[in-house]
Amino acid sequence: MNGFGRTVHSRENRRQSMSKPVAAFDTLARNDNLADEIAAQLRDRILKETLSPGQRLPTEQALGAQFGVSRNVIREAIARLKLTGLVETRHGVGTFVKQDIENRPFEIEQDDLLEFKQLIDVYRLRVEVEAGAAALAATHRTSAQLEAIKQALRQSGQHQDWEAGAKSAVDFHLAVSQASNNPYFTRIMGHLDSVIRDAVRTLRFRSMGTSRLEEVDAEHERIVDAIERQDANMARQAMREHLEHGINGYRNLFGN
Ligand SMILES: [Zn+2]
Repeated sequence: MNGFGRTVHSRENRRQSMSKPVAAFDTLARNDNLADEIAAQLRDRILKETLSPGQRLPTEQALGAQFGVSRNVIREAIARLKLTGLVETRHGVGTFVKQDIENRPFEIEQDDLLEFKQLIDVYRLRVEVEAGAAALAATHRTSAQLEAIKQALRQSGQHQDWEAGAKSAVDFHLAVSQASNNPYFTRIMGHLDSVIRDAVRTLRFRSMGTSRLEEVDAEHERIVDAIERQDANMARQAMREHLEHGINGYRNLFGN
């Protein structure tokens, strides 16, 4: 069992839900999922250069026939690729793979996490970003932001319901990044959080009934304490240690 088990599994769930009776919402959801999947496949071809920079994509009609979906779904998939800077449309000519895809906006896709090593790589990025955010929070936080962090911590301490506990743990980390008062930290944190959320939730679920959750609370308290005392080095170190325990948790669960 690898870290990607959950992702693949949730895809399976989505496929199953696609075979339910077709109501209007189901159709919308199904088209969304199909567009996601087709966008992911096209993205893969572009990044592996089966579709090379500057190359024109087949027409919507041809792609629709190839994937067995409507042109609307293809249009949606292409809109997603445009958003991520992989293709551009020249009106009346067609859609092309962009020449400079290495300059596209920074983004980590769920598909980057299909291997355990990739999940760990993303997690390591998170460790460095969050340790830096915690250090900045110690020196830049306002008293209202400190209060928001404490409030998030109090809520994450009440985790009879693991689902709510997982959410407020995320809120705690976001509150710390906000207190850095550097919006780029908050943005990259939000992005990393959405990418690894499933993995974090899995880890938390598997930690239920173990001593790990109490440890997490104690580690969170050390972080808050350092931020309160405006000790940047301590905040950095406390956050790093906390997240590194998380990495070890993944290794124990999924590593081989
Ligand atoms: Zn935490």
